[in-house]
Amino acid sequence: MPDRETMPTFPCIALRGVTVFPGTVMSFDIGREKSLKALEKAMEADKLIYVATQRNDDIQIPTFADMYEVGTLVRVKQVLKIQGDVTRVLVEGICRASVDEIVAEDIFLQGTIVELVQKIDKSQMTLEEKAEFRVVRDAFFEYVGNKHMIDQDAPRKVYNTKDPVLALDIMANELDVNTHIRQELLEEPSFIERMRKVLRIFVEENEISKIENSITEDVKESIDNNQKEYFLKEKLKVIQKELGMGNDGNEHIQWMERLEALNLDEKIKAKVETEINKFAKMGPSSPESSVIRNYVETILDLPWNTEKETNSDLVKAEKILNKEHYGLEKVKERILEYLAVIHLSKEIKGPIVCLVGPPGVGKTSIAKSIAHATGRDFVRMSLGGVRDEAEIRGHRRTYIGAIPGRVITSIKDAGSNNPVFLFDEVDKIGADFKGDPASALLEVLDPEQNNTFTDHFLEIPFDLSKTMFITTANSLDTIPRPLLDRMEVIEVSGYTEEEKVKIAQKYLLPKKLEEHGLTKGNMKVTEKALRDLTNYYTRESGVRNLERKIADLCRKVARKIVSTGDGEYTVRPKNLEEYLGKKAFRYDEAESKNQIGVATGMAWTSVGGDTLFIEVAVVPGSGKIELTGNLGDVMKESAKAAFSYIRAGAKNLNIEEDFYNKYDIHIHVPEGAVPKDGPSAGVTMCTAITSALTGIPVNGKVSMTGEITLRGKILPVGGIKEKVLAAHRAGIKKILLPKDNGRDIEDIPEVVRKDLTFILIEEAGQALKEALVYDEALIKQ
Ligand code: ADP
Repeated sequence: MPDRETMPTFPCIALRGVTVFPGTVMSFDIGREKSLKALEKAMEADKLIYVATQRNDDIQIPTFADMYEVGTLVRVKQVLKIQGDVTRVLVEGICRASVDEIVAEDIFLQGTIVELVQKIDKSQMTLEEKAEFRVVRDAFFEYVGNKHMIDQDAPRKVYNTKDPVLALDIMANELDVNTHIRQELLEEPSFIERMRKVLRIFVEENEISKIENSITEDVKESIDNNQKEYFLKEKLKVIQKELGMGNDGNEHIQWMERLEALNLDEKIKAKVETEINKFAKMGPSSPESSVIRNYVETILDLPWNTEKETNSDLVKAEKILNKEHYGLEKVKERILEYLAVIHLSKEIKGPIVCLVGPPGVGKTSIAKSIAHATGRDFVRMSLGGVRDEAEIRGHRRTYIGAIPGRVITSIKDAGSNNPVFLFDEVDKIGADFKGDPASALLEVLDPEQNNTFTDHFLEIPFDLSKTMFITTANSLDTIPRPLLDRMEVIEVSGYTEEEKVKIAQKYLLPKKLEEHGLTKGNMKVTEKALRDLTNYYTRESGVRNLERKIADLCRKVARKIVSTGDGEYTVRPKNLEEYLGKKAFRYDEAESKNQIGVATGMAWTSVGGDTLFIEVAVVPGSGKIELTGNLGDVMKESAKAAFSYIRAGAKNLNIEEDFYNKYDIHIHVPEGAVPKDGPSAGVTMCTAITSALTGIPVNGKVSMTGEITLRGKILPVGGIKEKVLAAHRAGIKKILLPKDNGRDIEDIPEVVRKDLTFILIEEAGQALKEALVYDEALIKQ
């Protein structure tokens, strides 16, 4: 039992929800009249008050009977008026106490107080008590470590307090328990018992803390993971957006809406829907999702039902064709016939137009005009260098990096399902290929099949039957046969000088002026200057380089205008060099001298016609034939055929009969960098060799073409028009052609024809008679 010491009378305050332990500092608010009075009283005296907790907080005017029996004698350390009647009191607990005798209860509570002293000397504590105390203290330290909200100064105080009873009270004060338990701990008279009670709570709290911590860790970890994932996903979204593949989460919904609007066939629609659903379930990071996106977007972008209204008015179409292209009468006529058939049959069946001719003659641009004339969109796909079938028909989607073929991509770009679709350079397809691009192309072009053209990537058929396909080629030789069979060939041949000048005046010059921001007044080019431009700065069948040269002129003039401010220039033959530098070609002087062992032939290459010189040198030797100048096999063979013909007829030709034992013959075709082949130089070689062996010069104004047989027969060859135009460009006056090519002469424009003499030959002897200049040989002798 604690000692009882009679104390003097003290003012008393009833507390609500607060218990003050001895040795601790505590603050509470008071506002009730009686409490304020009691405080006032204490402040007047020694600042000591007895405080005890109300059993029931609801009682407004408590008496001693309403308070617990054990309370605390406290010293007021600070009084703070907060607002209105509320005063905050800071007190320090001195000791446990209880009311011995009630002195007054009317104005304020007042009573005599008994101190419940319980002093324990540490040194006299039993081992059990000491051990128990330490356990409590350790539990307390652990408790403090777990709870961050409590007074972090408390452990230090506990450590420094010598009195274990006080230390226990300081520890008990830190417990986060309700008033009821606090009161119980205050009331417990036995120190040991109190230690046990406090310990039990600490241990329990520490356990709870441990569990709490582990829960917190788990939660934190999962939050961390979630956050990490969230963060990464957000980052991914930004990256995808940057790469233009933003998936804002409802992409698939928009796709569904667009799909609905396309009005596709049910089967196709269902297939696309399946893909969209697959995409929706897939994370945006999945590698397959980009393939599906590409797939779906390609399908949604295709002009399934977008059809341009076409113009079937042939008069209007003709006007447009004429407006955009000079000449090309035959071509235009054929095109208009073709359009008329389409108009009548209401479908594009029948052969595919193939425009064949050297570069720069307007094949591409006339195809564009056909699109204008018929009111269709225009797309172009070059087949040059296409080796892989997949370029036309796409890759299967199982392929990494699979994409649709270029046909489907071009149709997508056209934006309508009935464009003019130009396949450029069909003759360059399939030279060296994987798969068979030519057969894929056949499928695209074939009207019987192309209404269900199935790209490997799309795996669903697209109707190409409304598309108007046009192809171009430089030569017919290398177009795969099955393709050629399906084509209607329209030849677009090279231009004469006259035509080129007209095209330059009417089309190229105005076009280039406009492109360079110049007006007619800024730059005039005289007709003579254009003619010189054509003859001395270009040598071609078409007008592509001419167009480039005119663009050069425009740039030069534009620069002058900007730097001098002067805005009118006229380009004349005189100042042409000033603008474009030295003339690049000589003209009208086609090796025009008559020479021994040099004959002029005509070649037809894929870039158009050209003249070709064959040089022969005869040197003492043992009958070897040497051929140089990058000649192909066929050309070599025709050289040998010519040689054999000469050997067989040496006597008639006035050549030593055993010449092949005594001489070596060297045949050279200059411009060795350009590969040459074909049989058409046979007659030219024959002439050059004969000239070299007989010493009779060849007329420099004569040019010839034709295949030669061993017996000297001259066989027909192709490309006559281009060859003759080239010879004309080079200043040739007389042309020797195989007899069977006679009908080709009418294709040659009148302006050219009138400058030339055509001799049709059947036999090599005729060629020699026409080309060799016997008179000069005689003079020399
Ligand atoms: P290709 O396709 O035959 O190689 P392009 O169509 O590219 O030739 O023609 C080259 C340039 O020459 C184009 O600018 C074209 O408009 C122009 N051109 C060719 N022929 C004519 C022509 N008869 N009338 C007007 N311009 C022409």
